[in-house]
Amino acid sequence: MGFKELIGQEKAVKLIKEGLRSGRLNHGYLYYGPENRGKFTFALGAAKALNCFQEKEDYCGACLSCEKIDKGVHPDLRVIEAQQGKSIKIEQIKKVKGFSSSRPHEGLRKVIIIKDAQLMTLPAANSLLKLLEEPPSYLYFILTSPALDLVPPTIISRCQLVPFGRVSRQKIYSYLSKNSPLTEDELKGVVHLADGSMGRALSMISSPDWKDKRERYLKRTLQVLSGEEKEIFIQAEELAGEEDLFDYLEFLESFLRDSLVYHAGGDKDLLINVDFYNEIETEGNIPSEKLLYMMKEVEGFKKNLPLPLNRRLSLEALLVKMKG
Ligand SMILES: [Zn+2]
Repeated sequence: MGFKELIGQEKAVKLIKEGLRSGRLNHGYLYYGPENRGKFTFALGAAKALNCFQEKEDYCGACLSCEKIDKGVHPDLRVIEAQQGKSIKIEQIKKVKGFSSSRPHEGLRKVIIIKDAQLMTLPAANSLLKLLEEPPSYLYFILTSPALDLVPPTIISRCQLVPFGRVSRQKIYSYLSKNSPLTEDELKGVVHLADGSMGRALSMISSPDWKDKRERYLKRTLQVLSGEEKEIFIQAEELAGEEDLFDYLEFLESFLRDSLVYHAGGDKDLLINVDFYNEIETEGNIPSEKLLYMMKEVEGFKKNLPLPLNRRLSLEALLVKMKG
């Protein structure tokens, strides 16, 4: 356990460890970077390290403090987040002020994590700013945001900025190859699809139906590519009932993209769906102009995904265009 289980964000690890070692932790950190880069998981790890009873510059994951953070019941940690589709309101920040006014109950430090800090209303941000400007010695803030420019500059100026970048394919691959029973080709597929996100890679391999889903997507794709025109109606109806239509369309797009790359003389290693290499070689052997046209259509459809009620008809139109 400890920071070594959080792969690929060495900069964030270094900052926290140095802070703990030197006793000069910053009172505010802003973790920023796209979704699924592990910002929140890392923030929880940092909160553990700040309160761990066993480790000085890391967290053990096993002591009472670490355990309570894992269970979400540590009295010295508060996580503030918006309700679905809402903003973070000033009332939420005010509540946390009460929490901040007393010394830690059990731990060494009090930690406040503000998840998606860009969702704070302006009054909420201003209220937080006062606390960030003069925090009591035991209080630490970790804010997360998908991008820096979404957070008010006044807040930014009070925080140490920590970018969460893309984790390299090599790192994800080497971690997964030690920790999952997948074959080499399957692993490569996961690594490509994860697109630099360890979180996405892990959630893919941990969901039991991951492989079934990909097989189903492949089957649908082959039907779309080689089925007869009179089957369009049935295909559209089936697709409209697909619960993760967006995911499927992403798959379809990546299959078309792979076919384009491969049949233009590309290397097998460049394929996203390397586990479906055989199908890409045979069924994906389609003229490149046609592939490009289909990709464009799928992409456009994905961008303006119709509401469930209207999906069947729109999908019919899409399939007709793709066959045309
Ligand atoms: Zn611990």
